[in-house]
Amino acid sequence: MTAVTARAPAKINVHLAVGPLRADGFHELRTVYLAVSLFDTVTARPGDGLALTVTGEGTGAAEGADAVPTDRRNLVWRAAELLAEHAGVPADAQLEVAKSIPAAAGLAGGSADAAAALVALDALWGTRADRADLLALAARLGSDVPFSLLGGVALGTGRGEQLTPVLARRSWHWVLGIAGEGLSTPSVYAELDRLRDDGRVPDGADLLPAEPVMAALRSGPAIALAAALANDLQPAAVGLRPALRRALRVATDAGALGALVSGSGPTVAALAEDEQAAVGLAAAMAGEGVFRTVRAVAGPVPGARLVS
Ligand code: ATP
Repeated sequence: MTAVTARAPAKINVHLAVGPLRADGFHELRTVYLAVSLFDTVTARPGDGLALTVTGEGTGAAEGADAVPTDRRNLVWRAAELLAEHAGVPADAQLEVAKSIPAAAGLAGGSADAAAALVALDALWGTRADRADLLALAARLGSDVPFSLLGGVALGTGRGEQLTPVLARRSWHWVLGIAGEGLSTPSVYAELDRLRDDGRVPDGADLLPAEPVMAALRSGPAIALAAALANDLQPAAVGLRPALRRALRVATDAGALGALVSGSGPTVAALAEDEQAAVGLAAAMAGEGVFRTVRAVAGPVPGARLVS
């Protein structure tokens, strides 16, 4: 086998309820993930030891939260080591990550890459790991990695890694407004803890129920889904990045049925009535100059898959 390529989608959280800080340093989550049509690809070729290159979105001179490492700190590298150890094969591969999902954007780009790497390397090495094994390895790599494998729409509990597929009636059209600079996920959680300590937002002891958003996903109308969107991390992301307040307003003023910060941000996910409305919304959002990039996407889409 000379080269195997897998791709995996970005996610948005249409519901993200964050519980109090747990003793293990994580927060209890109740989230509804939805995979959207913005994909990173990972190509794996035979090699001697591991080698990794990363190209594409935000990988140029990015620093700080957006920096994408090309060594063992990259989730793709760790995915390769973990699968090799699990399967008892040598970790030999040349890996090439082509990013369209911006880093540190709240879109789970790193998790998508890790999931795509597991799928590509499983094929390259012929390890034939079953789905349950891959999901267990994914959970060891990061809270969002199991969802990047699964795709579609799913309820995530625990740290977000315990998944239950959710029925969705249709596909929806979204516009992603991506800011110039990323936000580090741990810093956004720390800001939420601070806001809670100060009594400025509810303490999260009662996790916000996901039933309204799940009912909207079952029923179908975009306006119902727009009304049910919720993200406990939004005040923290806005606290760290006040420009997000204006970005959210720009999306709704431009005609979004609803808009929220995706995950830990700073991407704004804006929901449109249909594909044509999404194209118009994307143009209007791009014209305001508050986003570095604006992308019209659709979802749900499947999780990590081989493409060649
Ligand atoms: P999430 O929504 O899952 O909290 P995110 O989408 O905000 O995460 P990622 O793009 O997954 O953020 O990356 C966050 C950090 O992880 C990066 O700044 C980088 O240091 C590190 N990282 C490790 N591997 C990767 C990768 N393959 N692509 C991007 N970032 C990676």
